[in-house]
Amino acid sequence: MLTPAEADAAIAATLAVAATERVRLPACVGRVLRESVHAERDAPPFDRVTMDGIAIASDSLGRRDFRIAGVQAAGQPPLSLPSPADCIEVMTGAMLPSGCDTIVPVERLTVADGRATIDAAYAPQAGQFVHRQAADAQSGDRLLVPGIRLGAPEIAIAASAGVTALEVSRLPRIAVVSTGDELIEPGRPIAAHQVRRSNAYGLAAALHGAGFEPATDLHLPDDPKTLETGLARVLDQHDVLVLSGGVSAGRFDHVPAALAALGVRKVFHRVSQRPGRPMWFGTRAGGTLVFALPGNPVSVLVCLVRYVIPALILRAGAALPPRANFSLSREYPFPAPLSCFLPVSLRYDPDGTNRAEPRPTGGSGDFISLAGTDGFVELPQGPATHPAGLTVPFQHW
Ligand code: AMP
Ligand code: MG
Repeated sequence: MLTPAEADAAIAATLAVAATERVRLPACVGRVLRESVHAERDAPPFDRVTMDGIAIASDSLGRRDFRIAGVQAAGQPPLSLPSPADCIEVMTGAMLPSGCDTIVPVERLTVADGRATIDAAYAPQAGQFVHRQAADAQSGDRLLVPGIRLGAPEIAIAASAGVTALEVSRLPRIAVVSTGDELIEPGRPIAAHQVRRSNAYGLAAALHGAGFEPATDLHLPDDPKTLETGLARVLDQHDVLVLSGGVSAGRFDHVPAALAALGVRKVFHRVSQRPGRPMWFGTRAGGTLVFALPGNPVSVLVCLVRYVIPALILRAGAALPPRANFSLSREYPFPAPLSCFLPVSLRYDPDGTNRAEPRPTGGSGDFISLAGTDGFVELPQGPATHPAGLTVPFQHW
């Protein structure tokens, strides 16, 4: 049986980076960039005034009284300073008027009758409050590199480069497949022996939170033939299948056999972890990834967040974000010889320690206990008791 780290490596070894598509800039948020973006111009593109006030020549430092020779607003071509006895009123974002190199903020001035007087107690420094042309980047510099995930800063940077669309990784076509004769849709009448088909909703929510949308939501019964026919249909039309249920050792757990019959190559079945030990992963020629997750609602969510979402990020050509470490707030006994994914609430203590408060569930079927938890920590296989203060990697839901 693989460890979680070995399962990570086995999944990663099967991944091929997704094809690309061109997407309009506003729709690129959360997507993975697959081209470089270069500076259209210097940044800033001109010597930029960073304070409302007056612009003067540093040659005249020491002088307090200036005639206001003009007003330089943002978006105007630069004025020119007529003489060192003059100043030009300037606004934040304006071009530095030619002949000037220093800004005195308006808070340090008295302005009256066309003259500006610098407060007696204020000594301006030569060159202050000017953001120099090309101080941040030069025209042609590479601003964004392939593989970066496009968040707010990157979108703004691309816009600053004059770009209206970007080459990004295509999103995977994902099918979420619930298996189980007992499952009933929310809103439909339900009998005592049935349960709500809740996993599909949790999986879709977690995928959405990570920037991925399932294209298909399918429910299949625990009947080998129907299962196989249904899976055959979605296999052909999707890049990624996320199945829930039917991978354990029960008499109606037909998923591995159905997948094998459809030519999906098993990469592993079972990982030394709790919850989620029966997890199955395989691939099909053409690159379709099949994650068959155990149906218990805690297992299915943990496995999605722990394995499927990282695989989708890697497949998109991005690096995985670093995992945050937290300090276990109290001792946690876990005698089984397995890695433990323990749901937690986060606490930021006044002493600066970031703590993870264990919020164990009553087994992998008890997802009601997950309400209000932040995610889970990964406790390594080994000690029967994990001590308080242990540093452990944390993953958000
Ligand atoms: P299985 O992995 O199919 O043996 O299912 C394990 C447990 O999870 C059973 O109690 C199922 O009823 C439950 N379960 C399976 N699929 C779902 C689902 N889509 N939504 C809610 N519970 C599920
Ligand atoms: Mg089942």
